[in-house]
Amino acid sequence: MRLSSYIIPTKVDNDKYLLVHGYTGAVDLVDSAVAECLSVYANVDVPEAAFDENIKTTLMSRGYLTEKSIQEEYDYVSRMADLLHRKSMLSFAGFTFVVTYDCNFRCPYCFERESVCSRLGGRSMTREVVDAAYKAIDAVNKSRLRPSRYITLFGGEPLLKENLAIVEYIVGKGVEQGFKFRAITNSYDLNYFAHLLSNDKINSVQTTIDGMAEMHNSKRVHRDGVPTFYRIIENMKIALDKGIEVGVRFNTDKSNFQEMVALKQYLNELGYADTGRLVFDSARLINHEDNKLDESFFTQKEFVKEHAKNKFEYGCKDFGTYSKLYKAISTGKPLPYKASFCGAQHGSLVFDPFYRIYPCWEVIGEKEHETGYYKDGAIVWNEENLSRWNNSFVSNIPECQGCKCALLCGGGCPAHSFNRHHCTCMADLIHAAAQRLYKNEILK
Ligand code: SF4
Ligand code: SF4
Ligand code: SF4
Repeated sequence: MRLSSYIIPTKVDNDKYLLVHGYTGAVDLVDSAVAECLSVYANVDVPEAAFDENIKTTLMSRGYLTEKSIQEEYDYVSRMADLLHRKSMLSFAGFTFVVTYDCNFRCPYCFERESVCSRLGGRSMTREVVDAAYKAIDAVNKSRLRPSRYITLFGGEPLLKENLAIVEYIVGKGVEQGFKFRAITNSYDLNYFAHLLSNDKINSVQTTIDGMAEMHNSKRVHRDGVPTFYRIIENMKIALDKGIEVGVRFNTDKSNFQEMVALKQYLNELGYADTGRLVFDSARLINHEDNKLDESFFTQKEFVKEHAKNKFEYGCKDFGTYSKLYKAISTGKPLPYKASFCGAQHGSLVFDPFYRIYPCWEVIGEKEHETGYYKDGAIVWNEENLSRWNNSFVSNIPECQGCKCALLCGGGCPAHSFNRHHCTCMADLIHAAAQRLYKNEILK
C-alpha cells in the first residue's frame, strides 16, 4: 500500500486540508493530522498500522491510498486520458463564424493585427459563404452524438455597422434552424444591432474593457483615434436592457491590474451588476508578438498570485476549476475530468470568409493551422493539420505526462503551446479555488 501520486492537497485552515484526487473523482476535507500523516509516507510504503482501520478504508476507497505502483497509476491515467479524449471527439462540436477580418479598432496587443490591418483585412462573409457554412455545420452535427445549436460570432469585429445586413442574414437563417448566437465584440457599434439582441437570437455578448477611460482608450484604440470607453459602456446598457448576458473581459497585465477594482466599482455604481447578467472575467494578457513574456506581462504564476492578493474578487480566469470543485462538494458527485484543454482539440470549427476552417479563433488566417475547406456542401479536411490539433491532448504532451493535475487541466491552450509549452499552473489554481471554496461555502 502506498500514497497515490495523484493527491493535490491544499491547507485551507489551521487544522484542515482539502484533498483533491487527480483521477478517482474524490474531493475531501480532512483534518491536518490525516493530511500530515499522509505526507510522511510520500515516498515510502505505508505501514499497515499507520492509520486507524476506518480511516484507512476511507482513504483507500477515495484513492488516496492505493495498491497500484507508480507506473500502474501512470498507465491508468494515460488510458483514462485516451478514453476521455475519444469520447469528446465523438460527442462535441462547436461552431464559430469569422464574420469579417475587418475591425474598427487597432488594439496594440491584437493577435490578429496582421490579418486585420493588411493581409486579410476587409474580407467579410457573403451570403454564399454563410450558406456553405450552414451546410457544413449540418454535416458535422449529423456525425456527433451531441449536435450543437450554438454559433459564436467572431472577427475582426463581427458587429461592424457596415456588416449589419450579413449579420441579419446569419442570425435569421440560424434562428430558422434553431440556432442561438453569442458575439465576441468590441461593442463600439453594438447599438446598431439592438434588434438582434434577445434570448432567441444573440443571447450573450462578450466585450473587452481594459481599465477606466484613459487606460482603456490607450489599449482599445479606435482606428480613427476617437475614444471608445464611454460608448462601450452605453452600449453595454443597451444589451443588458435587452435581457441578455454581458461578459466583460478585462485583459490584464501589470499596467492595469489595479484599474480592475475601479472599473468593477464603476459598473456596480451604474447598476449593471444588479441586473444579474453582468459577468466579469480577468484574462491574462499574452504577448502574441514573439510568444515570449516581457516585463509588462504577468506569468501565469504571478497572475494567480495577484488575484489571490485581491481575494479573487475580480474573476480570475481559472478555467472552471472553482466551479468543478464547488459542484463536486455540493452534489457529492465525482469531479469531472478531461484530457484536452478546449474544444479546439476535439471538434471546434471556425469558419472564415475565405471558405477556410480553423480549429480556434486565435489561429485564423494562419495556413499551418487551417484544418479544412468548406464549399458546395462538403468539407475537405487537411488531415495533417487536423490530426496535429486532435492529438494535442495530455497523453501526447511530454510536459504534462505524469502531472497529477493532468485530467483537471487538459494540458493548457494548444494555440499558445505548439512552439513552447505554457503551463496553466493548475495546482496553483486548485489551491486558490480550494481556499476560496472553504471560506465561501464550507465555513458558511
Ligand atoms: S477589437 Fe479585437 S480584432 Fe479589433 S483590433 Fe482589437 S483585439 Fe484586434
Ligand atoms: S499544463 Fe501544466 S498543469 Fe496542465 S497538465 Fe500540463 S503540466 Fe499539468
Ligand atoms: S486553443 Fe487556446 S485560444 Fe484556442 S480556443 Fe482553445 S484555449 Fe482558446
